[in-house]
Amino acid sequence: MNIKCKISQWSVQEQNRQWHNIKSCHQTKQFMQVVNIRLRQYAVRLSRKDLRLLVGLLTGHNTLNRHLTLLRRTDDPLCPLCGEEEDTSLHLLGICCAIAEKLCEFFGRYFLGPGGLRQEHWSTLLRFVKKPVEGFYNLRLIRGCALGPLEASALGGKTPAPNGKVR
Ligand SMILES: [Zn+2]
Repeated sequence: MNIKCKISQWSVQEQNRQWHNIKSCHQTKQFMQVVNIRLRQYAVRLSRKDLRLLVGLLTGHNTLNRHLTLLRRTDDPLCPLCGEEEDTSLHLLGICCAIAEKLCEFFGRYFLGPGGLRQEHWSTLLRFVKKPVEGFYNLRLIRGCALGPLEASALGGKTPAPNGKVR
């Protein structure tokens, strides 16, 4: 093994060690437990719009109710489709009973769960989210992406400052 390969191997090990030790990023860790160079290479080649959508999906920083509740844009963090759990991308793509038929049509399974979602390539997750819509379940994710700043839609187009105050 040459020195370049050894450095690359060490780099991946170090990233995995640091990722494992981070106490935050709960939602992202459900999608990504270890560094995956192939997925990373896929992500950096995406258009800015698709990358933003993917990052929102993986991190939970999107227009679903849990995040909007954290931003104090709504006071109900529950899924508006089933009302059973917090409205997160993990819930929406993995276990929402209200769209189980759609999940089955697309993924071949009614419930993916975190383990199932990790097995899907990010391109597949993006394709599902961008699929022409029946109902509004995936539009809610795309909405924030298409309109620019997430808060723009909730605030009538006004852009919030980093401290959350409306300019
Ligand atoms: Zn639901």
